[in-house]
Amino acid sequence: MTRDESSSLSGAPSKVSALAWQLLLNRILTRDNLCYRGIIGTAEASCPLCGGVVETSRHLFLHCNFAAGIWYALSRWLGVVAVLPPNVSSSYAVLVGWGSNSKRKKGFSIVWLAFVWAIWKARNDRVFNNKVINGSEVVDFIQHRLLRLRVEFGVKLLVLAAAV
Ligand SMILES: [Zn+2]
Repeated sequence: MTRDESSSLSGAPSKVSALAWQLLLNRILTRDNLCYRGIIGTAEASCPLCGGVVETSRHLFLHCNFAAGIWYALSRWLGVVAVLPPNVSSSYAVLVGWGSNSKRKKGFSIVWLAFVWAIWKARNDRVFNNKVINGSEVVDFIQHRLLRLRVEFGVKLLVLAAAV
């Protein structure tokens, strides 16, 4: 993400902004990171949502069929044509870039926060509660929570580091 591409995020609820920062810094505790830290073995590192490949943040939040389906559904909802971004930080830049003015950019940054929050929540429900959530439920969650989140975010701005 370049300085030009970087934008501001509303002052999100602390747990949401903490997740976003950890994700953009690739410090989120996906299974590849747990494996790297020696907490789990490589045999336990597959994606909990599809079981297909190692769970990295890029896979979980974009390239897993689960996340990709949500990304495309949100794209249609927002009325834009979108290919899947190559990585997590560019997904933020792409989404915010769809905004034609600062107000819409801010709105789309909130959509991105809701997107990553909802995927992480669905992933953790699967891992810790053995609860299966389908993609359309996540899209509904994002759409219905956005208005409330926009209120909760308030006006405080967090400027994303240009190096992220
Ligand atoms: Zn997957």
